Amino acid sequence: MLEISIRFYEELNDFLKSDLRKTEIRKTLNHRTTVKDVIESFMVPHTEVDLILVNGVSVDFSHRIDDGDQISVYPVFESFDISAVTRLQQRPLRDLRFIADCHLGTLTRRLRILGLDVEFRNDITDDELVDSVVNAKRILLTRDRRLLMRKVVDRGYLVRSQNPEEQVDEIIKRFDLRRNLRPFTRCAACNGILEPVEKAEILHLLEPKTKLYFENFYQCQTCQKVYWRGSHFEKLETFVKKHFP
Ligand SMILES: [Zn+2]
Repeated sequence: MLEISIRFYEELNDFLKSDLRKTEIRKTLNHRTTVKDVIESFMVPHTEVDLILVNGVSVDFSHRIDDGDQISVYPVFESFDISAVTRLQQRPLRDLRFIADCHLGTLTRRLRILGLDVEFRNDITDDELVDSVVNAKRILLTRDRRLLMRKVVDRGYLVRSQNPEEQVDEIIKRFDLRRNLRPFTRCAACNGILEPVEKAEILHLLEPKTKLYFENFYQCQTCQKVYWRGSHFEKLETFVKKHFP
């Protein structure tokens, strides 16, 4: 039998039952195990953890704990210099690519409007999501924390809010995306890239009024959908300006 104590910091407390939040938790274990297993026994996904101190020393997930260990668990910090210690989440890829679970359609479309690469299918299975994280190196966005607790999922984020506006804010903050935003460069419907297109080339696709009033068009290179600055555009522009001032 081992006696350990563990404390979770900052927003990792979101994952804990209320009586365990912001307090030193004492736990008895039947056998030696890794610090990752201990952390996930509290339903805190490892993808949310960026720094673990055991008795004041930074360790990685595979560290095996001993009787009497004191464990401190910290989330991914946006701006906090812990470069001298072992950060457990890899630094963001230069080109961040996401995959969203089937409940995050609205969020997906908004992130695409901001120019972010987000794969989405409303009939995608959990295994396909995980496969895309492992093989396509996409970052999993989900509201299902069990998915983030799968061992092979090394990049992911548990979306906290139910409100798509707030969800967009969360993701921009967590992945420090301000400089990665390229509004109106990506198809909200299919994630394809938009390119300018000559009006003559797509004339047959336009409604009579659109033909009359608009001159500049963009076309999705994947699904061929045509975009222009029509009446819906103002609303989108207000949304974009909020995140990309
Ligand atoms: Zn498209």
